[in-house]
Amino acid sequence: MNVGEALLDLQAIDLALNRSKQALQDIPQIKELAQRRKQLMRLKADHTDLVARRKDLELELIDLEDDERLAQAAVEEAQASSEDLTDYRRVQELEQRLSDLAKQLDKAAYGQREKHAQIDQLLADEQALTARTKKVEQAILDLAKAARAAAESIQADVATLEAKRERAAASLSDDALKAYAVASKRFKGLAVEKLEGKVPSICRMTLTESSLSDLERKGGITTCPYCHRILVRDTDAQ
Ligand SMILES: [Zn+2]
Repeated sequence: MNVGEALLDLQAIDLALNRSKQALQDIPQIKELAQRRKQLMRLKADHTDLVARRKDLELELIDLEDDERLAQAAVEEAQASSEDLTDYRRVQELEQRLSDLAKQLDKAAYGQREKHAQIDQLLADEQALTARTKKVEQAILDLAKAARAAAESIQADVATLEAKRERAAASLSDDALKAYAVASKRFKGLAVEKLEGKVPSICRMTLTESSLSDLERKGGITTCPYCHRILVRDTDAQ
């Protein structure tokens, strides 16, 4: 392999390396994983919120049960004392008291039914949320596995290309490598072109006869008179 071929080889390897490194960053499962992880965090926050609301309702329910017990005890107490009553005014008072207590009992019973219904709804919501959370967790596991597999195969490609690059670079002089590195940076990886007939492979500007004979005099590797890339004139010559 002559210097021109070695340079073209090196460039092809570097382009492939860039593609592989980009592919590593662009693994689709990794982007989806990030989205799924955010989704999972939102679901867990929602779950915490639902549980907190349910606990509050359960405490309110206990209060209502206490209210009911107290009112019930007060009713029993009032009824027990009614046997001693002979005074009309006190009978009226007692009736009023029992009527108030009956309202309190109704209110406590209604409140409890309401809380029970709300708690049942929240429990159903929690169950649905748990099922969704499980699905998302499973999706994350699957995606992580797929991302790992995808990354592994690309990383293997990168390792192979890096070994190839080392061999290709070893066949070139320090000066040639330096010139290639400078041009590669300047031309964003497309540093070396080869002459195809009278046309350089990258800039595609047809060379004039005088340019061609100029290149002929300078030997196998020169600079393109148009784009100033490294121009490999003849890849067949040894
Ligand atoms: Zn050119």
